[in-house]
Amino acid sequence: MSKLGKQSARAPKSTKASKPHPHHSLIPGEWRHGDIHLLGHSVAGVGTCLVWPELKLAFDVAQGLPYAFNCQHYLLSHCHMDHASGIPYLISQRALMGLPPGRFYMPQSMVEPMHEILNVWQRLDGHNYSYEFLEAQVGEEYSLGGDYFFRPFKTVHRVDSQGYTVFRRRKKLRMEFQGLHPDQLLEIKGRGQPLEDLFDEALVSFTGDTQIEFLPIAPTWVKESRVLAVEVTYMDQERGVEKARQWGHIHLDELLAHREHLRQEKLLLIHLSARHQPAELAQALKQRLGGPENQRFEVFPRRA
Ligand SMILES: [Zn+2]
Repeated sequence: MSKLGKQSARAPKSTKASKPHPHHSLIPGEWRHGDIHLLGHSVAGVGTCLVWPELKLAFDVAQGLPYAFNCQHYLLSHCHMDHASGIPYLISQRALMGLPPGRFYMPQSMVEPMHEILNVWQRLDGHNYSYEFLEAQVGEEYSLGGDYFFRPFKTVHRVDSQGYTVFRRRKKLRMEFQGLHPDQLLEIKGRGQPLEDLFDEALVSFTGDTQIEFLPIAPTWVKESRVLAVEVTYMDQERGVEKARQWGHIHLDELLAHREHLRQEKLLLIHLSARHQPAELAQALKQRLGGPENQRFEVFPRRA
């Protein structure tokens, strides 16, 4: 979380701060890449929540806004309020709507304190809620139902933190059988020989808040994900690399310096500071990257 309070206390001098920031809208932005579909919002220090509606999955929960009510799996990257404060509200809203208890996955260090928060709030509320708080361990596999599952990976922030990758388990015709006639395949199958291999396709990796140090230690599957939703909080020299690092975040300069290691089809840049419009970051990318490279980088959410 950034020091937004201090920034706004200094703000009156700036005309920029006095007009409503389109980035703060409660209407979620929407983004698609093939069959990958995300909606939500993400502004540093304000709120981050990305929902994949078809999987009933949310990466972080921001303040628990309506577009996240109908998820089933909530993957929490870390405890900062702009990412996790919506947990109690989501639990209460889901109860009100008669939805089944949500499953909230989080780093181990968050589980007990979150139970404490909920216990106090249930006492105040005079109501007992149903919910699940589950420790999600780095590298382990957790089912999302059907062919989908996720794995947490380590990130580097000012508090205990982790990112998440969503996978789809797919079947692929074995190499040696490719190009054969269907009758031949049936015959092979008839002999009891398996025709297909299983493979895991890494679809989306979400970093939450992190320094660039997550990248060298990231498992191969993060580097090979079709989409990497990665935080880029600062982008200019007024808030330079050192400031980004001090607050546990990534500066645009750092991400671009590592771009030869970024093999994803799409890089979705999230968590931009409220000091900037998304269009400013998009413009900076356009100026600093060549044509095809520029196509791979997108800013989310993009309204301006
Ligand atoms: Zn944070």
